[in-house]
Amino acid sequence: MEEEARPREARAASARVVLLQGDITTQEADAIVNAANSSLMGGGGVDGAIHRAGGPRILEECKAIVDERGRLPAGEAVATTAGRMPARWVIHTVGPRWQGGSRGEDGTLAHAYRSSLEVARELGAHTVAFPSISTGAYGYPVAEAARVALAAIRAELEEHPGTIAEVRLVLHDPHTLAAFEQALADTFGE
Ligand code: ADP
Repeated sequence: MEEEARPREARAASARVVLLQGDITTQEADAIVNAANSSLMGGGGVDGAIHRAGGPRILEECKAIVDERGRLPAGEAVATTAGRMPARWVIHTVGPRWQGGSRGEDGTLAHAYRSSLEVARELGAHTVAFPSISTGAYGYPVAEAARVALAAIRAELEEHPGTIAEVRLVLHDPHTLAAFEQALADTFGE
């Protein structure tokens, strides 16, 4: 029955990349990332969980952002405070909807991770927690999404070493965790 545990941690430049199974809303991290939609008006999945846990203030801030700059295009990211959650900030990003893989979904997904980390750096966040963007309602196959995510995170941390000391991927279910463990081995292994 016993399986050899696969590594859940890797290094990229001066930062740690850590995988764990859990609920992103309870994470003690400077910033947590929300897999939002372009309206920024909340939704199901992790988006709903973040707004429920954080309270109404987050939605008020999202409304102000949309009033000022309009809907958030896929791949981009903006920050609000985190309301009642332990984190200081929520970074809202929009992943691609899976449409079969030939519509540039991989580039948009990588951009969502990279722009979130760029916003985190601008805020001065040292620890950043991500959910698995696009692999719920947006239907991105999780094995592929995990590889895109970890490659994007690694590239961003290597290109901009310093501020961010830990990127934590908080995966909600064992299947998603297993996909990220495999992708971590593929991306960071020799
Ligand atoms: P998307 O629309 O980008 O696909 P979803 O929220 O539907 O976003 O799903 C993205 C991932 O977030 C899924 O793996 C889902 O299981 C996971 N998820 C849902 N709730 C939470 C939570 N509280 N913490 C972390 N991950 C969560």
